Amino acid sequence: MIPLLKRLGLNKYSVDPKPHIEVNTDICITCKDKPCTVSCPAGTYEAQPDGRIIAHYERCLECGGALVICPFGAIKFRFPEGGISYNYG
Ligand code: SF4
Repeated sequence: MIPLLKRLGLNKYSVDPKPHIEVNTDICITCKDKPCTVSCPAGTYEAQPDGRIIAHYERCLECGGALVICPFGAIKFRFPEGGISYNYG
């Protein structure tokens, strides 16, 4: 049996060249707690000094958590081409 880490090392990822996450950063400026920055297990959402958010879309695990936790609906999401696509399994 192949150890888990070696099996994980066999995974292949193809990052979509087009961002699959869009954030309305004008809304983020008014969001005090910024729960997306602490809830994402991959650290996709990073707060900037001016209150806006940068979405590092290439880190996204496609779990959908940020869509649920954002209290203002500021995030638009589509499944990326060639992503991990948990929607398939
Ligand atoms: S939770 Fe939503 S509104 Fe708040 S900072 Fe994150 S994306 Fe912006």
